[in-house]
Amino acid sequence: MTNILFDALMGSRQGDMRAALICPDGRRISHDALFRMSGRLASLLKETGLRPGDRIAVQVGKSVEALALYLAAVRVGAVFLPLNPAYTPAEVGYFIGDAEPSLVVCDPDRAGRRDDFMPSGTALLTLAGDGSGSLTDQAATQPEDHTPAARKGSDLAAILYTSGTTGRSKGAMLSHDNLLSNAQVLVDEWRFDADDVLLHALPIFHTHGLFVASNVVLLSGGAMIWLPKFDPDQVIAQLPRATTMMGVPTFYTRLLDQPGLTRDLVAGMRLFTSGSAPLLADTHRDFEERTGHRILERYGMTETNMNSSNPYEGERRAGTVGLPLPGVELRITEGGKPVTQGEIGMIEVRGPNVFRGYWRMPEKTAEELSEDGWFTTGDLGQVDGDGYLTIVGRGKDLIISGGYNIYPKEVEEAIDQLPGVLESAVIGLPHPDLGEGVVAIVARHRGADPDPQAIIAGLAERLARFKQPRHVVIVDELPRNAMGKVQKAALRQDHAGLFD
Ligand code: ATP
Ligand code: MG
Repeated sequence: MTNILFDALMGSRQGDMRAALICPDGRRISHDALFRMSGRLASLLKETGLRPGDRIAVQVGKSVEALALYLAAVRVGAVFLPLNPAYTPAEVGYFIGDAEPSLVVCDPDRAGRRDDFMPSGTALLTLAGDGSGSLTDQAATQPEDHTPAARKGSDLAAILYTSGTTGRSKGAMLSHDNLLSNAQVLVDEWRFDADDVLLHALPIFHTHGLFVASNVVLLSGGAMIWLPKFDPDQVIAQLPRATTMMGVPTFYTRLLDQPGLTRDLVAGMRLFTSGSAPLLADTHRDFEERTGHRILERYGMTETNMNSSNPYEGERRAGTVGLPLPGVELRITEGGKPVTQGEIGMIEVRGPNVFRGYWRMPEKTAEELSEDGWFTTGDLGQVDGDGYLTIVGRGKDLIISGGYNIYPKEVEEAIDQLPGVLESAVIGLPHPDLGEGVVAIVARHRGADPDPQAIIAGLAERLARFKQPRHVVIVDELPRNAMGKVQKAALRQDHAGLFD
């Protein structure tokens, strides 16, 4: 009997006493210990009545036990469904109502409010950020031997909800094959092996921290420095022990603010990657100047895991997300037809990484996943003559003003060059004459005080009139979610009546 994903991630780890997880307090968890922990948890999950194919919803802080719980869920053949700890009970209620898990694991603080978010019949166990709770208490006396449930490649391993950047989160159904094929490709492409030590400061309720980072390291047999969250001081302190780090762009901008980030500090590092949101070309350049490392940017999403990556060897082009990964087909379309090479259009992908559809949303699935396997990502992009993909923005953020298409990224890049500007978000708001009017939300540099009129004037030479913002709002910082994604939908809502 085989369990595709568990066997690959953990199958040969019994008796492997090398570190799998290194905690900031000095605790080291070997691969063997993680294997055994997943066995006890798997035995407990089975005892609660969880059967292959059942969902287990998990809203907990990041801990060693939380990672072991993911492995235990895969081991018993359940479908792992992680949720952002920041979600309110009302939000969690939506996910639980939608996914109908047989078991919910949440922080003990939340358990008292169970009636607010879950039906009375659902089983509940608790797990706190420090690893304590009824889950670990009850697992302590469970047998650690647990034969993995048989699972084939097309069986679901996880449902991950999308970040909800463009609308309500959708549950992406991911199979054992989806997750394993992508992890294998990334291990090869990014040269991971058993000697690697990945600095892991990402959350594990999202694809980036759970699948891209954790699966890749577990598969290659290396170790992770397991940090509860991104704390710049802690990251600076731990970097000398690491060989690789995966981050979102805000990790890099925040590290650049640290005087302790020097070439010497990262002398033992071989790779920094970035994704989940666009990395500014400036950040790429500043990081290289400071450390000598060119950040490797890649592109993916909940529904597909990773689609493209800049090369490990070869040119890493700032502002691009690189080349399609082996096995991933990528095309750019307009109205469903491939565009001429170099033109902007919708990014579509096909491959073993592409999910099996949205959970209980057959119509949405049919809209975005064609019968011949092409997934419409919702992102607009263009491919250059060498095959490098550039993301121009999201389809939903495209502005149509006076009948013209305006790509916010082009306007943002022009604004970001102006004095006093740190970064910007360009959105379209309802406008009585134009349909949509261009508005720029501009985050100022600390200590600077840019003038909205000067910004508009500063664009006169750089952008056609129809692309120039009609209105500029200066702010201290742009609203971002936990993955560093700018919340444009929230900005559109906040400023909705501007042109009324
Ligand atoms: P929702 O689908 O619910 O609106 P979301 O798309 O933000 O939310 P995720 O699946 O977490 O949810 O994010 C995937 C998106 O993140 C991609 O579609 C893309 O827009 C963006 N993204 C990921 N990596 C990059 C990158 N390197 N550069 C630019 N954008 C990126
Ligand atoms: Mg999306």
